[in-house]
Amino acid sequence: CGIIGYTGTGDSALDVLLTGLNGLEYRGYDSAGVALADDSLDIYKREGEVSALEAAVPEDPSSVSAGIGHTRWSTHGPPSDENAHPHTDEDSRIAVVHNGIIENYQELRDELATRGHEFTSDTDTEVVPHLIEERLAAGKDRQTAFRQVVDRLEGSYAIAAVFEGSDVIHAARHESPLVVGLGDEGNYLASDVPAFIEYTDRVIYLEDGEFATLTPDEVVVRDEAGEIVEPSIEEIAWDP
Ligand code: GLU
Repeated sequence: CGIIGYTGTGDSALDVLLTGLNGLEYRGYDSAGVALADDSLDIYKREGEVSALEAAVPEDPSSVSAGIGHTRWSTHGPPSDENAHPHTDEDSRIAVVHNGIIENYQELRDELATRGHEFTSDTDTEVVPHLIEERLAAGKDRQTAFRQVVDRLEGSYAIAAVFEGSDVIHAARHESPLVVGLGDEGNYLASDVPAFIEYTDRVIYLEDGEFATLTPDEVVVRDEAGEIVEPSIEEIAWDP
């Protein structure tokens, strides 16, 4: 159960994500996956070890500069390729990774089902990309859509989302940890510092209820009310 994200020009996103997933292994997991955001979204996910995922990804996706990754510790639905994260909407334009439990997922899932949505997993997480898809269809921009959906969730979560054709990572947390890493040529997101410590030691610990928007050269943090906050940047001493 861990999240990693990277958007930047300095490194291959896939390399950073796989390094990050290996760095999160100590937290325990039963499956792993990544989403690479390019003109389209490329999703690779496997039940089992990160090595199973590594065997499934393409050899040289070095042109891709943004993505998110996940190690899963199942709470809703058994370990399987389908239940592994990232999860997407029906058209695979939105990819979401999530740690924690969405307590009201059944209600949200029933609601989505009555509006014709079909699901490919048993997870609580999959409602999130479907709800975002509806907000986008209603004309909301990506950031507003992400925020409005997260506002509907009850329970504990660290969530990250990427969209087709965009190098922006959207993130939010409530009762699950999430930390941002600031690099010279890109920015990082993870459940815990070991995931990206080999790339940067300048971090922002997100507070409960905060949202972060990461681009290759900027990180914007907003509070629950949507106001931009000036985050405190810490330089951590780390001896890996
Ligand atoms: N509740 C989600 C699931 O079962 C996320 C579990 C986790 O924290 O890895 O897929």
